[in-house]
Amino acid sequence: MAKQILIVGGGLSGTIVANGLCRQLREELTAGSVAITMLGASDKHMYQPGLLYVPFGKMRESELFRDQRKVLDRRVPYIVDPAKEIDVDKKVVTTESGKTHHYDFLVIATGSRIRPDNIPGMSEGGHWFYDLDGARKMRDALAEFKGGKIVINVNAPHKCPVAPLEITFMLRDYLIAKGLLDKSEITYTYPIGRLHALEPVANWTVPEFQHNGIKGETFFNTKSVDAEAKTITSEEGTTLPYDLLITIPPHTGQQVILDSELGAGGWVPTDRGKLLRDGSSDVFVVGDTTNIPISKAGSTAHFEADTIVDNIASLLKEDRWARDYDGKVFCFVETGFNTGTYVWFNYTTPPNPGPPSQMIHWFKLAYNRLYWLSARGLL
Ligand SMILES: Cc1cc2nc3c(=O)[nH]c(=O)nc-3n(C[C@H](O)[C@H](O)[C@H](O)COP(=O)(O)OP(=O)(O)OC[C@H]3O[C@@H](n4cnc5c(N)ncnc54)[C@H](O)[C@@H]3O)c2cc1C
Repeated sequence: MAKQILIVGGGLSGTIVANGLCRQLREELTAGSVAITMLGASDKHMYQPGLLYVPFGKMRESELFRDQRKVLDRRVPYIVDPAKEIDVDKKVVTTESGKTHHYDFLVIATGSRIRPDNIPGMSEGGHWFYDLDGARKMRDALAEFKGGKIVINVNAPHKCPVAPLEITFMLRDYLIAKGLLDKSEITYTYPIGRLHALEPVANWTVPEFQHNGIKGETFFNTKSVDAEAKTITSEEGTTLPYDLLITIPPHTGQQVILDSELGAGGWVPTDRGKLLRDGSSDVFVVGDTTNIPISKAGSTAHFEADTIVDNIASLLKEDRWARDYDGKVFCFVETGFNTGTYVWFNYTTPPNPGPPSQMIHWFKLAYNRLYWLSARGLL
């Protein structure tokens, strides 16, 4: 009987795991002693960081998508039939169509989702760029914007912790290009007592905001949005008027995680080194869907996926663990239309963002194209 590896989720981390396992388990796949299957929710794979550029007309929608089967190694059957229930005791996943899939190793890679509906008025009064529909609407809203008060409202938890900063700096350059900066005011709200969850990034942000005339409003946990009055109010009692509200809505994990009772908020309790679900020896969790308190980012998902590939291959071939994930994260940060910086850190080394440069912006633009190689596991 072939050992069944089942991957639930065909986004970045699931795809890297599948492609990496195909390379490391080539002989086993050929001999039929191992089989890999992926369950997904869509035929298409989206390059999510590209959404940042859509509101400014700097990336076309068609550039965001590839056919998932073309990104995936052809030895992995890709079934578009989302998981409905994951039973880790019986080692079986049931899909929305009612089919069941047994596994020897399970990889949960279902990512996260935005929940603007969790805050009263946010869906009606806010714009966002964290999904395609939102990015389209934000593009239209920017095209109509004639100047005024802009509130950039960050809610937690959310993926890509630097994207709110990127949209802020890029928006400022957009206003300059449109001749609207003098007629506009940008206020950035953040839920804790500084401008970013990572303290060194918060410290780096303060002078960057001062230099660019961006106001910061800390301890702002969003309570509600009044779309008619055009105001946003925090639990702490602050009310800010806006002409344009750009929000990073709070995120949760997927419904299947909640329905399967695998973790509060849809985040699966996960060992930060082995990336095993707490209490399981055959269920790996990767990417946004873990509850590990580090950035939910594509690079996190990538480095975690590499670790899981090494470990599953090593367990199957040699019955031993290969290594632990060290918490490595690397993110480019756009600091405008023409400059960027980057942050990297791990469990023991804090981030240390450097001065923005044009060269790093070009690296980010290059990575926007190289992503597809990265998903294939070639980078
Ligand atoms: C605007 C924006 C900018 C970003 N910028 C960056 C950046 O610059 N750098 C960076 O590192 N990261 C960035 N990210 C974050 C990055 O895209 C995510 O952290 C990364 O995609 C997480 O990978 P994942 O595999 O966990 O989830 P995903 O890539 O989201 O994949 C999850 C997959 O699971 C599927 N799925 C969901 N439910 C089910 C189900 N029930 N059954 C089967 N399949 C299911 C989904 O359809 C999806 O394909 C950005 C994200 C956004 C939105």
